[in-house]
Amino acid sequence: MNIHEYQAKQLLGKYGVAVPRGKIAFTPQEAEEAAKEFLNSGVCVVKAQIHAGGRGKAGGVKLSKSRDVVVANAKEIIGRVLVTHQTGPAGKEVKKVLIEEGCEIAKEFYLGMVVDRGTGRVAVMASTEGGVEIEEVAAKTPEKILKECIDPAVGLQPYQARNLAFALELNRIDKALVNKAVKFITALYTAFVESDCSMAEINPLVITKSGDIIALDAKISFDDNALFRHKDIEGMRDLDEEDPKEVEASRFNLNYVALDGNIGCMVNGAGLAMATMDIIKLSGGAPANFLDVGGGANKDQVTAAFKILMSDTKVKAVLVNIFGGIMRCDIIAEGIIAAAKVVGIRAPLVVRLQGTNVEQGRKLLAESGLNVITADKMDEAADKAVKAAKGNKP
Ligand code: GDP
Ligand code: MN
Repeated sequence: MNIHEYQAKQLLGKYGVAVPRGKIAFTPQEAEEAAKEFLNSGVCVVKAQIHAGGRGKAGGVKLSKSRDVVVANAKEIIGRVLVTHQTGPAGKEVKKVLIEEGCEIAKEFYLGMVVDRGTGRVAVMASTEGGVEIEEVAAKTPEKILKECIDPAVGLQPYQARNLAFALELNRIDKALVNKAVKFITALYTAFVESDCSMAEINPLVITKSGDIIALDAKISFDDNALFRHKDIEGMRDLDEEDPKEVEASRFNLNYVALDGNIGCMVNGAGLAMATMDIIKLSGGAPANFLDVGGGANKDQVTAAFKILMSDTKVKAVLVNIFGGIMRCDIIAEGIIAAAKVVGIRAPLVVRLQGTNVEQGRKLLAESGLNVITADKMDEAADKAVKAAKGNKP
């Protein structure tokens, strides 16, 4: 799960991570109220709140030196569709802005934490190349990113935080900055671990002209599997920012991830779902989603899954690929038939069933009167789905 920058800063602030003072505003009036509080330093920043980075370049971050300018910028940004390199071409509508106390930047850095699957540890990364896209730094000049892996048994050690501070060459600017950075990194690490984050990114981390180290931007993702123990964090969920199909799928405990292709997939088991996506690609098509209905799905879940697939306007064909183990093929057939009655089958439907109760499943589909294209083998099923999606007769 992702949260907005303003929420991330609130959370980090509680852990003693230095963040600018700010307030969220849904309207230009609220922006004006907030500006009264934060214009003391002479400059406020109006920042679009969407779950995507690259807002600065896209015009979603505006320095504002008077109350009128804050209001004008809030008017301009709220309601606007912002297209950044992370939103995709469709962009995202801005519903709120963060009004923040501005600061004078002396230097921008990068600081990030992720759960590193390679080492099974939290990796802390720091780079002098802040503000820009870190992916580019990693690709072109990886030596400019210092990485410290944290042993979970002892946590982040002060020497590791100092290594990072030295990598940023803070000691060369001012020795006092090293201790400030150690305090900052330590607080961020505590927030990361205690909140069960999967990623935290401060880009830029800045040194201000007055010698403070603060998080000018903050991006946090949480491990969904740990959310049950963080009701407060779960409460920060913004459904407007999530794919409605993914939200609906999570209501039914379905493992669904939206993708770019046009063949809707319904599969049981993550491994078979991956294999199905691969074989669709091999047959020259592209999956519209990853969907694992799980080993023990019931008729309601199958119905919900089918509705989600058919409601996706990108979908030009649907491929149901089920290997009945614990899951029974007749349950799948019942779910499809029930859903088809409600939503109809507006795109060609290819079904490949194998395993437990396969005969009953096939019989139910055959007698349902639904226009189902059947297949025995996986490659045959993928081939038929790809042809159908292209508008050709399978
Ligand atoms: P992103 O583009 O979505 O990553 O948004 P950021 O929060 O990183 O903001 C983009 C850029 O705006 C930063 O890299 C800064 O250069 C600039 N910026 C943000 N806040 C301030 C501020 O208080 N003062 C100044 N001078 N620049 C700021
Ligand atoms: Mn940023």
